[in-house]
Amino acid sequence: MHQISLKDAFEGKDSRMISEKQRLLTFESWPFTTGPCVKEKMAKAGFYRCDERSDAVRCFCCFKELDQWSHNDEPWDEHIKHSKNCFFAQLQKEEQHLTVDEVKNVLIEREINRNAKLCENELNTVKSQPTNQLLKSLWD
Ligand SMILES: [Zn+2]
Repeated sequence: MHQISLKDAFEGKDSRMISEKQRLLTFESWPFTTGPCVKEKMAKAGFYRCDERSDAVRCFCCFKELDQWSHNDEPWDEHIKHSKNCFFAQLQKEEQHLTVDEVKNVLIEREINRNAKLCENELNTVKSQPTNQLLKSLWD
């Protein structure tokens, strides 16, 4: 069963999802077989499926998760609408049409996003701990 949690993704366990071919493989049993959001177009727009039990997908570059897809949704349009700063979504180019420099920049942006998310997670963990527990962990 294919499943990659957000935490796994931040930790780099989704690195093979950089490849469109690998992303496409995650869409086995995808409910839409006609229309704009068929699996091929989802994979081209940067998405991979995070969990087969739902229609939730995640962008390999910005890590944005989107679900509740409907038959007429355009993957690229939804991508840029919900994640306007995503470098890959801004390019609106399929993998095979990217230049070497564009690929390099996509990978750099992905690493920046991944590290930002990791830091955000780390901060939230610290913030959620009671102060006395935090101080104890510092002193022990
Ligand atoms: Zn994205």
